[in-house]
Amino acid sequence: MELPQEFVERMKEQLQEEAPAFFDSYQKPPFRGIRINPPKCTLENLKKSLPFSLVQTPFSPLSYYVPDDQKIGSFPMYHAGAFYSQEPSASSAVTALSPQPGERILDLCAAPGGKSTQIGALLNGKGLLWSNEVVSSRVSILLSNIERMGIRNAVISNCEPEHLCTSLPGFFDRVLVDAPCSGEGMFRRDPRAIEEWSPEHVKSCAVRQLAILESAQKALTPGGILVYSTCTFSEEENEGVIEAFLKNHSEFELVDSGISGGRPALTKARRIYPMDGGEGHFAAKLKKSGEKAVESLFSEPKPIKVPNFVKKFWEDTFTIPMFGVPASVGDQFLLLPKVPLPILKGLNVRRAGILLGKERKGRLEPEHALFMTLTPENLQHCLVLSHDSPELKAFLRGEQILASDQLSGYAAVAVDGVITGFGKCSGGFLKNHYPKGLRVH
Ligand code: SAM
Repeated sequence: MELPQEFVERMKEQLQEEAPAFFDSYQKPPFRGIRINPPKCTLENLKKSLPFSLVQTPFSPLSYYVPDDQKIGSFPMYHAGAFYSQEPSASSAVTALSPQPGERILDLCAAPGGKSTQIGALLNGKGLLWSNEVVSSRVSILLSNIERMGIRNAVISNCEPEHLCTSLPGFFDRVLVDAPCSGEGMFRRDPRAIEEWSPEHVKSCAVRQLAILESAQKALTPGGILVYSTCTFSEEENEGVIEAFLKNHSEFELVDSGISGGRPALTKARRIYPMDGGEGHFAAKLKKSGEKAVESLFSEPKPIKVPNFVKKFWEDTFTIPMFGVPASVGDQFLLLPKVPLPILKGLNVRRAGILLGKERKGRLEPEHALFMTLTPENLQHCLVLSHDSPELKAFLRGEQILASDQLSGYAAVAVDGVITGFGKCSGGFLKNHYPKGLRVH
């Protein structure tokens, strides 16, 4: 792996006597990790289904190292949303953000969703996760990861940061800016990041990062928390951006990041190098002065009157009351998060809450995303299959599978107790409703 000479010089200067250990890391395989998704799966359950042991990383209580010879994306528990594949040090930014259930959180640069799904797991359905991604072609992967991880209380938008943040001034309790960067922490995993690197690119990233932070701070409530993170080592893009931001914003102060792994930067921020057990991350936590306003300008959305065929579907299929706020768009039914929401018009919202289903000839045709937010106890009928069973493999390929001939109507399919999809039972079979785009062949 040939590193750009200018990058080598900069890292020697930055790391001094530690530089040889840093360059040695390029001879070793990169760190790999997974992050458990507690709303869907317990650690005990996950450990039983994986053929290797999990070793905790120092960057988040949810983050574990995995051996580099494992194909993480091939495990059924991955498809079920029991865990997310995430480079260990990348989990540190949300540790710094420390979202609390019930809060409103903005993830301003969200695709493909590693940090958004971590925030979603910590909110555990309470409060609001607003995931924004400016590049429209990257929104679908974000949406699919949010759905796979069973997050109910998310709004997903495709906006320029400035437009979104000026439209929602002071709305959020915490804002994460996981900024686009020169990606020096990706070099060991992705040679394309090396090709794209240049001193000019570093400089232009720093300009863009400061502009994104300038927008982000507008969406934060007084007393709120702003976390800035990158996966690069450059001082220009990390310490430099934070210092420039603080110079213009005396209402912000740097506070302790709360991250235990890695090493201090700017005293209270954190840097992680491969010598610290991760590919590379920087995270700084800033607090805005003032007190959060108690009253909210916004109110909870008004529910629609739920049609009888939707009520009947729900009662026949689930054991829990309908959650969220029922809403409809055209022939589609949604469950919006039960929190005060701004007017979404003009914010290029690609999804709010979860899809319940569509009306087809007076009946409800339910959506995969709805089932992914549930646990087997929430269902009248659930087929629990083992992670190594041929029936599960057949289900994930999109095939019809055997079911008890006592069963009729919709049933979830779970892998070792974690719901991965659904189907419709009749005559001793489950007709497969696993989405075509997700099938595993
Ligand atoms: N937070 C994501 C995760 O954990 O999966 C990774 C985010 S990635 C580091 C940065 C994101 O910023 C990319 O999805 C990129 O498309 C987006 N981006 C690019 N230019 C941007 C801009 N000018 N403003 C905001 N976001 C931008």
